[in-house]
Amino acid sequence: MLFSGVAQHFSKVEAIDSRLEMSGEIAGLLQGCKPSEARQLVYIMEGNVAPSHEGLDVGIGEKFAIRALAKTSGYTVHRVEADYKKSGDLGATAEALLAKKAQLSLSSSENTLSKVYASFLKIARMSGAGSQEAKIGVLSELLNGATPLEAKYLVRFCLGKLRLGVGDPSIIDALSMARHGDKTDKAVLERAFNLCSDLGEVSEVYLSGKDLSRFSAAPFKPIRPALAERLPNAKEIIEKLCSDEKDEGKTPIISRKCAVEAKYDGLRMQVHLKDGEVEIYSRKLEKMTHMFPEIVEAAAALPAKNAIFEGEALAYSAREKKYYSFQQTIQRKRKHGVEKMAEDFPLRLFAFDIMYLDSEDLTLTPYLERRKILEKLVRNNKAIVPSDLIYTDSPKKLDEYFQRALSEGLEGIIAKDLVQPYVAGARKFAWIKLKKSYGELADSVDAVIVGYYLGKGAREEFKFGGVLAAVRNDETGALETIAKIGGGFTEEEMSSLAEELEKIKTKEKPRGVISKLEPDFWVEPKIVITVAADEITLSPMHTAGSVGGTGYALRFPRMVSMRDDKSPADATTVREVISMFEMQRRKSAQ
Ligand code: AMP
Repeated sequence: MLFSGVAQHFSKVEAIDSRLEMSGEIAGLLQGCKPSEARQLVYIMEGNVAPSHEGLDVGIGEKFAIRALAKTSGYTVHRVEADYKKSGDLGATAEALLAKKAQLSLSSSENTLSKVYASFLKIARMSGAGSQEAKIGVLSELLNGATPLEAKYLVRFCLGKLRLGVGDPSIIDALSMARHGDKTDKAVLERAFNLCSDLGEVSEVYLSGKDLSRFSAAPFKPIRPALAERLPNAKEIIEKLCSDEKDEGKTPIISRKCAVEAKYDGLRMQVHLKDGEVEIYSRKLEKMTHMFPEIVEAAAALPAKNAIFEGEALAYSAREKKYYSFQQTIQRKRKHGVEKMAEDFPLRLFAFDIMYLDSEDLTLTPYLERRKILEKLVRNNKAIVPSDLIYTDSPKKLDEYFQRALSEGLEGIIAKDLVQPYVAGARKFAWIKLKKSYGELADSVDAVIVGYYLGKGAREEFKFGGVLAAVRNDETGALETIAKIGGGFTEEEMSSLAEELEKIKTKEKPRGVISKLEPDFWVEPKIVITVAADEITLSPMHTAGSVGGTGYALRFPRMVSMRDDKSPADATTVREVISMFEMQRRKSAQ
């Protein structure tokens, strides 16, 4: 397939607002691809050359892309920069400059999708001294054979700003539509994706006609993490997890126990063991193996050849016999000084689930059985221990355990349904969390920063006065604003955040952001922060879940922590905000 054809489809996709139409357009494009090309195309649409857990990054700096563009177009670097300053989009500048050049020389494109992909892969694998120069060479070569429209997307891709507005859910719909014309296979595609986190691989397997229903988890392919729902109190949790039936008065009949686990506030880790080799993935499914030598050592000593299990790691002080907070634990997530930190702040991993053991996919095995397998696996290990839990069907016992957890400085509890499978990549009632309350709110909110304000008065020196934050509408994929947050930041956080935000500011409101407010600067939605508030209110200023011009908003919002371990796809959804709002109502009616 020629890349010029891909670029034409991209151009159409960019102009479409409806997600369904967008998927239809992509389905058309996928139908013209061989299965191996579909894999390449999907990675490119995701903005990368491989699934993100491979850690490959095309990453050409802006300055270098400008030089490549100057080299190909024959214009000076100065001229390219001036055009770019006007357009604010180097892709658009590339398109305009190459269009002028095309009038002079009659070049026609020979770039195929596979050639473009192979070149991007080559760029991503270049590192070390002189690599930026070599990357410019590869990009210039691609641009030389490119139509102006192709050039737009080639340049944008290399800068990591493809901006198609196409998320994984749209690609999944498109795959099913490419084969059946409708969304028939959506669920089976989602499950396969949740088990391997590699949509490129899923696309190739699916479009070559194989049966995805037998797709299984496998070591070194991270599983998309299971997520917890919320309920406001112990009674509702027990009723939900311990009963399948109701009596005539509609009272749930309690027929089994549930597990109630301590909720540790640390770093989520997915540990993979493959023939004695260990890999550790973060919640965002990035490899972080080298940061935690003591966990690697402990995992390698487990009595298994192959395994995938999960837990929450906390730094602890052996001398003081106490666990450190999330803020201190997260310091262990670093590339330098790893050995020293491992000595000073060793981690203990509280294992809470297992998804694979010695050739067996356990994701469909009920929780209670998985738990027994997990306990047997980590028995006798010092650094990896099972999470603390009780089994109960009594709201009173659950509540006592919850209060004890809080008094020990933990975040709360997570209750688990004994008969449920591991629900990869989804927030389901298999797990229900109950956390210490934030004002009237049952939980904090993980929001994405979409813009920021400049500081006034004392804040002027930080060039930072607060952020505009949004939650995710999982039906439309849009980011809808929920709060303007000025408080809760330390001075250090303000200056480092100001620096980060400066790097990702955009001229226009990013595609997919819905806002009535206009911050001083818009930014690419990349940074997630945890926000606490007193309550959720209705407000005409915000767009979250907006009906008839009124959206949901956070009252007295304040920042709790930066969440480097979460990406915008992990942000709280509008649906969750609405359910928290309803819980708040139920609570105040009590
Ligand atoms: P939250 O981030 O508030 O939605 O809570 C879910 C997170 O709690 C998970 O992603 C885990 O990182 C963490 N967690 C801590 N302890 C447990 C546990 N015992 N079981 C499951 N998740 C836990």
